[in-house]
Order: sequence, then structure tokens, then C-alpha cells
Amino acid sequence: MGTDCLFCRVVAGEIPATVVRETASTLAFRDIDPKAPVHVLVITKEHYADVATLAQDDPALAGELLATAAAVAEDEGLLGDGFRLMFNTGVYGGQEVFHVHAHLLGGAPLGPMLARNLA
Ligand code: AMP
Repeated sequence: MGTDCLFCRVVAGEIPATVVRETASTLAFRDIDPKAPVHVLVITKEHYADVATLAQDDPALAGELLATAAAVAEDEGLLGDGFRLMFNTGVYGGQEVFHVHAHLLGGAPLGPMLARNLA
């Protein structure tokens, strides 16, 4: 992917990030604008636009992303009280950066799944 992708630039080391875990295929770093005491983004180093594309094209890599998220949750002490793992996807999902990323959120009660009931 070209240098216009923000998270590809993080992977390339062109944009600084507070990395908390790195594997051969994934990277986890703190969100620049945290919404919870723990807010870590977990990405694949390879560029996929979103979680649907990743899961369809490389399900094994999607599993590696989840394993990294679980390891970070353990490192951050979130396994006891729980956490939320979230993939914003597309326009309705509110996705702003089109490089697949899981939001790992925890460290406090996170409230309802959505701010409003849309059903
Ligand atoms: P989303 O709306 O799901 O695409 O989330 C994008 C997330 O990326 C937001 O929570 C931003 O705060 C976060 N973000 C944007 N730029 C950076 C950066 N340079 N380092 C870390 N997190 C970032």
C-alpha cells in the first residue's frame, strides 16, 4: 500500500506510535485519542481495508490479529474485569482509517454497546 495510508506509515516507522506488542504479522499501539483507560489499536502489518476484507482474503491472519489482541488484553490486566474488542467498518460503522484495526478498550466499565438504541 502507498504512503497515503496512515497505519501503513506507522508500520513503516514513518509515524511514531507507542507500540505495546509486535509480532511478525501484527502491531499493537496505543490510540492517539484514547476513549478508555486502555485503548489499544491492533492492526495487521499487511494492508487490508477492513475486517471483512481481511477475514475473506486471509482468515489465518485475522486469527493472528485476534491472538495479538488477546495477548495485549492479558498484558494490560483486562482479562479479569473484561474488555471490548471492536472493528468499526465502513461508513455506517464510523470507520475513519481504512487499514484494518481492532479497538481494544478496557480499564473501566464501558457502558452500553451503543450510545443510542437504533432498533
Ligand atoms: P476508526 O474510526 O475506527 O477508523 O478509528 C481510527 C482510530 O485511529 C481513532 O480512534 C484515532 O484516534 C486513531 N488514530 C488516528 N491517528 C493515529 C495515530 N497516529 N496513532 C494512533 N492512533 C491514531
